[in-house]
Amino acid sequence: MKHDFDVIVAGGGPAGSSTANYLRQKQRSVLVLEREKFPRFHIGESMLPFSNDVWKELGVFEKIDAEYIHKPGAMFVHEESGAEFTYYFDTAIREGRPYAYQVKRAGFDKMLLDHARGLGAEVREETRVDDVAFAADGVTVSCTGGGRSYTVSAPMFVDATGRDALICNRRQLKVPDGLVTTNVAVHCMFQNVDRSGGADEGNIIIGLFNGGWWWLIPFKDGDTSVGMVLEKSFSKLNRGSSPDEMMKAGLEACPHLQKRLVAAKRILPVGAQGNWSYRSKTFYDDRLLMVGDSAAFVDPLFSTGVLLAINGAKFAVEHIDRALTDGDFSAERFKSYQDQCVAGMEIFKSLVHEFYSENLRKVLLASARNPTVCAAITSMLAGDVYKPSMWHSVVKKGFSHLPEASAGADGLRSSREIMQLPKPQRQLS
Ligand SMILES: Cc1cc2nc3c(=O)[nH]c(=O)nc-3n(C[C@H](O)[C@H](O)[C@H](O)COP(=O)(O)OP(=O)(O)OC[C@H]3O[C@@H](n4cnc5c(N)ncnc54)[C@H](O)[C@@H]3O)c2cc1C
Repeated sequence: MKHDFDVIVAGGGPAGSSTANYLRQKQRSVLVLEREKFPRFHIGESMLPFSNDVWKELGVFEKIDAEYIHKPGAMFVHEESGAEFTYYFDTAIREGRPYAYQVKRAGFDKMLLDHARGLGAEVREETRVDDVAFAADGVTVSCTGGGRSYTVSAPMFVDATGRDALICNRRQLKVPDGLVTTNVAVHCMFQNVDRSGGADEGNIIIGLFNGGWWWLIPFKDGDTSVGMVLEKSFSKLNRGSSPDEMMKAGLEACPHLQKRLVAAKRILPVGAQGNWSYRSKTFYDDRLLMVGDSAAFVDPLFSTGVLLAINGAKFAVEHIDRALTDGDFSAERFKSYQDQCVAGMEIFKSLVHEFYSENLRKVLLASARNPTVCAAITSMLAGDVYKPSMWHSVVKKGFSHLPEASAGADGLRSSREIMQLPKPQRQLS
């Protein structure tokens, strides 16, 4: 079979555009088929510092650094008690990544996709992948775009269709994460939110309340993304409500957030996302890899989705490049791809489970008494999850044995105070 491209990628989000970018760096020909016309709205706006390593490899770090507000830390606020604690990334165990970025995904995803295009990837927007036929000599992709339906072929197919999870759904491979599967998120964009000032302006603020958690993500242009993840108990009580009503009900339980929104003006309709965390039984098959959300989705509590997607792209391309060289696309050679992806996901998944079982909720607000735990949590919040690390064992052991899990929040309010580091004087953004 004569092929049109080395690789066909379905989906042009961070997973798909990064896959295309890495493939072009290896001189492989690649076609990206993206259903939407970019820029398009997408949720998932808070990045992690360890993504910076990948942004550098993709050649987009300078652009991102110039264009987006710096995020030096994550502040946690407890609605019921008023306790708060800020984790600063410059106190992470591995140094050199003192901040991440807050990005509006419409422009950000377009920049990533355009960059891949600039490297020679062929990108067809407004083109939907309808079907994929896998055969012994290649993959035939049926798609619709530009007013016609047609097929294209390649030796290898990458599913990067995000939470649509094209192949995972078609093959009924989706395994929901029982603990957090019925959570619901509601979200929208505001102007005039009361945000932190000075060097802390770019911090994400995460509020914990009896019923879920909320986020406040500040952008450079002054707009702020505000969203709430409502736990099963809360969303059940409000079953049948519109996203607007859900958000209103959530806000009533959150006086701290209400205060920050007193003068705020909503500039987008309230959006909603359901069908929560899942993982595909397998991330690979003959001539197939799934990358990013199409393979698995971890609850977004720690802003991990894009980090997992772009690292997945990096791992995937190492495997695809070797497969193309060898002319061997059999499933068994891709097994370690899934292992690499899952290693990072498992750390976050354990943290999320600890959070929903209450142990981590308390520790997040009172880790002040334990510098080791504090540094370990900071490192994981920064996204340092791939290299086998001593501090990963803190997560594996769980948090229930720590005295902080039963203590209230105390006088210290930031990881810098625990590490006895001075506050930076300079405004970072
Ligand atoms: C409530 C919520 C909050 C979140 N917050 C964060 C956060 O703060 N930080 C973070 O890093 N992550 C966050 N995430 C996760 C983040 O949004 C995703 O992990 C990330 O977008 C995954 O990238 P991706 O490329 O795999 O998928 P996507 O970004 O979803 O891209 C998939 C693309 O595939 C296209 N597509 C789908 N089907 C087809 C088809 N058949 N043919 C062609 N194209 C197709 C879509 O149009 C889309 O552009 C959050 C998620 C949720 C639900």
